[in-house]
Amino acid sequence: MKKILIFISFVVSIFIIGLVSINTHSVQDRILNIGIKNILFSAEPFLDKEDTLKVVICGSRSPLPSPGRAESCVLVEAGDDIYIFDLGNGSMDNLFQYQVPWPNVKAILVTHMHSDHIADLPDAHLQSWVQGRNAPLMVYGPEGINLVTKGFELAYSADYQYRNEHHGDDMLPMSVAGYNAIQIRDNKFIPNDTPGLEILPFVVDHYPVNSAFGFKISYKGRTVVISGDTIHDGTVQKYSKDVDLLVHSAISIDLVERMREVAPLPQLNKILFDIQDYHTSINEAGEIARDANVKHLLIYHSIPTPRNNLMERVFFRPIEAIYEDYTLSDDGTRVVMPVGNNEIVIDKIN
Ligand SMILES: [Zn+2]
Ligand SMILES: [Zn+2]
Repeated sequence: MKKILIFISFVVSIFIIGLVSINTHSVQDRILNIGIKNILFSAEPFLDKEDTLKVVICGSRSPLPSPGRAESCVLVEAGDDIYIFDLGNGSMDNLFQYQVPWPNVKAILVTHMHSDHIADLPDAHLQSWVQGRNAPLMVYGPEGINLVTKGFELAYSADYQYRNEHHGDDMLPMSVAGYNAIQIRDNKFIPNDTPGLEILPFVVDHYPVNSAFGFKISYKGRTVVISGDTIHDGTVQKYSKDVDLLVHSAISIDLVERMREVAPLPQLNKILFDIQDYHTSINEAGEIARDANVKHLLIYHSIPTPRNNLMERVFFRPIEAIYEDYTLSDDGTRVVMPVGNNEIVIDKIN
């Protein structure tokens, strides 16, 4: 009994000392400085030491809100070179948090020009500028991508000027402000200087979007397909034959219909109806993965993105009897495919 009392008074004393210490400025300063250092430097280095093809989901949701998730963004790292496919709202916060080194980002590639795929382009422009970009930001995209980048350049022209004048020409030179927009074409490889890398865009059907693309990425024997937004018309399946990883968008008609039944506004009801005709359903995504002999299916841009385990179970119900090797991506889901073997390692940043 005496020992217990001594132990309790020891714990209480430590608690009181802690409480008093946290109120002194010097202790606050020391803890804060450690915290700031952790925020800026503690993350593990982003780049792999080994030669791998790596996919990081930097935005896992569709336009339907889902707390803690950014809109569409898929980062592909081949060796030490980085290519980013789409930059939806919130994705730049993720890339900043992952400490992605912008000098290693060789290009942004846009699947199509819906806002949930391009909203963070201006932040990518700023972040890469700050990190020493030595040319305008390279953006590949569908027909009209130059109008998008010209529009952003116009909207941000005052911002470019302010930052240039404030930080100086050495830090933020006006000569590299803006974008270099290049139109991509069906089945024509994206030119790149990464040894062993091929990026092949292919047209997908996301009507009434007049130009939308998916991509097949091959790096030293490892392969990934990114679907973009599309209906199931056989195209993604054709390009996904035997690939290591298929990153596919998917809609749960079941969940969207349940949402539609309780939609508080007629406008929301209509949108939830309209979106059903230009996306691939989750069961179709499973069939594509099965029929194309895909090794792993990673679902992103899920509609709606499940907010909890129950919703996730219902989302994936239609796929259970079709295809087993699937994962619902979170922001930060990372898939590592080492060169030279068939391994697929899935983990999460942070
Ligand atoms: Zn979308
Ligand atoms: Zn879309």
